[in-house]
Amino acid sequence: FRHGEASQVFVSTPDGAVPFGEHEPLVIVAGPCSVENEEMIVETAKRVKAAGAKFLRGGAYKPRTSPYAFQGHGESALALLAAAKEASGLGIITEVMDAADIEKIAEVADVLQVGARNMHNFSLLKKIGAQDKPVLLKRGMSATIDEWLMAAEYIMAAGNPNVILCERGIRTFDSRYARNTLDLAVIPVLRSLTHLPIMIDPSHGTGKWEYVPSMAMAAIAGGTDSLMIEVHPNPSKALSDGPQSLTPDRFDRLMTDLAVIGKAV
Ligand code: PEP
Ligand code: MN
Repeated sequence: FRHGEASQVFVSTPDGAVPFGEHEPLVIVAGPCSVENEEMIVETAKRVKAAGAKFLRGGAYKPRTSPYAFQGHGESALALLAAAKEASGLGIITEVMDAADIEKIAEVADVLQVGARNMHNFSLLKKIGAQDKPVLLKRGMSATIDEWLMAAEYIMAAGNPNVILCERGIRTFDSRYARNTLDLAVIPVLRSLTHLPIMIDPSHGTGKWEYVPSMAMAAIAGGTDSLMIEVHPNPSKALSDGPQSLTPDRFDRLMTDLAVIGKAV
C-alpha cells in the first residue's frame, strides 16, 4: 500500500474542478439509483444542485440481482445524463459494468463508478485504470479492506492515480432491519492505510431512507471526505432502490442539517 500525505482527486465538471480529499470541503453526490427518463433526471439534477450537491449520480447500466429486473436504459440513459449535466452544471458519476462501454460512458461521465459487484473484476479494473477519468471504487459487499485496497492498486498500477474509495455497506449475519452493515470504522482505518479520498454511501449502506440522515451525519463525524445519497422525485415509483431514496424535499432538509455539523458543504 502507499503511505504518506493525503492526496486530492480533482474532478473537472462544467462548474469547475471539484477536489475530493481530507483537507477539502465535503463533496455531496446525489441522484437516483437509475436514470429512468429525461424529466426525472433533469428535475433531480436541478433539485440536488440547488441544495448544494456537486455531482449527479444515476445508473445507465445497472447490476441487478435478477436478470428479469430493470437493467437500466443503457446508452439512451447516457444521453439523458448529458441533458441533466447541461441543465444543471453538475458533474456526472455513473457505473461501468462492461469494459466495452468505457469510452462511450466517459463521453458524459466525469467519474466512472465501479460497483460493489465488480470490485473483484480485475480485467475491468485494469481497463478502467488505463483511461484517465477519475474512478469511484465501491467496496465489494464481502470484501476485506485489504482486498478493496488491492482493487484500488489494480487501477493505480494501470496508470490512473485518481481513485476515490466508497464504503457502501457489507454483508453481515443480520439484514433484517438494514440491507447491509455500513462499516463506518473504515474511515479511520483507511486514513491509517491509504492517502486516497473516502466516500460513504449510507443509502446502499442501510437500504432504508429513514436511516440515511443519521448515518450521513455519523460519516461526517467520522471524517469522511464525501457522501453519496440516493434521491428520487417519487421513490415509491422508482425502478430500483426506491425504499432507500430520499425525496428532494427530504434531501434539502438533510443538506441543511449537514451544513450545521459538516466541513463546509
Ligand atoms: C449503485 O450505486 O446504485 C449501486 C448499484 O451500488 P453498489 O454497487 O454499491 O451496490
Ligand atoms: Mn442503487
